[in-house]
Amino acid sequence: MTAAVNPAMTRVVARAPGRVNLIGDHTDYAGGLALPMAIDLGTTIIGHRGGDQLRLHSEQFRTTMIEALPIMDTQIEPTWARYVAAVATEMRVSPGFDGTITSTVPLGAGLSSSASLEIAVALAIGFDGTPMELALLAQRSEFAAVGVPCGLLDQFSCVFGCDGHALLIDFNASSIEPVPMPENLEIIVVHSGIERTLAGSAYAERRAACEMASSIVGDLASCSVDDLSAVSDRVIRRRARHVITECQRVLDATSALRGEDAIAFGALMNESHRSLRDDFEVSTHEVDELVGHLRLIPGVHGARMTGAGFGGCVVVACEPGAIVDPTSFTGRGWKVRASGPARVELLEA
Ligand code: ADP
Ligand code: MG
Repeated sequence: MTAAVNPAMTRVVARAPGRVNLIGDHTDYAGGLALPMAIDLGTTIIGHRGGDQLRLHSEQFRTTMIEALPIMDTQIEPTWARYVAAVATEMRVSPGFDGTITSTVPLGAGLSSSASLEIAVALAIGFDGTPMELALLAQRSEFAAVGVPCGLLDQFSCVFGCDGHALLIDFNASSIEPVPMPENLEIIVVHSGIERTLAGSAYAERRAACEMASSIVGDLASCSVDDLSAVSDRVIRRRARHVITECQRVLDATSALRGEDAIAFGALMNESHRSLRDDFEVSTHEVDELVGHLRLIPGVHGARMTGAGFGGCVVVACEPGAIVDPTSFTGRGWKVRASGPARVELLEA
């Protein structure tokens, strides 16, 4: 679905993975730790650079955005095009582009289709900088597009993805360390069937609670649970307790992966879910039921909600072959593998 193009224009194929967070949710904006992996579901943009407008067709939405450059306003229609407009605006100077977006990442499911889109767009229209700059640009674009004050979990996972490895991310230090995924562990993602409607406002509220806690006790990532006795508000104390205990679970889960201890890894995932459900209160009844159901399957080591919460996907760690058909639970499910980073290929037309 592209208009006639000038054959002198550069042909571009940009690919960016989605991600699944194995453990460590709602820790990125608190300067904590997380252990995601880029996955073999992603966004692909194919098209031609050149001209003075940005024209992109989304196969998922079956709509086309056409904007003259430079783009002055990110609040455009169709709504999905706001992500594209925000990236183009953040990059300031970019050539025009004419192409198509396709995605195998389920949209709005907590597998980071939005960061995958932002990063694929940036690479397609000629981003020229370091991976760290690309991640930061995508984070700013997400805020400009939809006002979500997101951390860097999604963008780091997409930009620093490593084949066969999870990524231990320390958001305070902005350090990323690949951790080999053991052969005895299979990762399955199952969609709960619940769309994440409340996600935007509740996310900002949780983030504010963590900021409030850290204004009292300091950096949550270097606090202990005992330090929280200084926080009088019980709800804020529980939110902070999730972040503190989750960071420790990320470290323990990394050791479990390194020691190929799938049982310990699964137990930590289960504990992470409990903390997200009870202390951080970002799960839903349906997600809890699905997690409980999945844990009963022989060979399943652990299951938890993944991503910001309020619906979306559940991630499962199991023995290879324990779940033959990931679509059998809700109709939508995937066996995922740790994949490499976003990349772009330029082909002279
Ligand atoms: P998640 O990142 O967990 O998938 P978000 O709500 O953050 O969920 O982002 C989903 C939004 O990203 C979609 O509603 C759409 O606006 C945009 N998006 C993602 N992939 C595509 C795509 N292939 N085409 C158009 N828009 C997309
Ligand atoms: Mg997103």
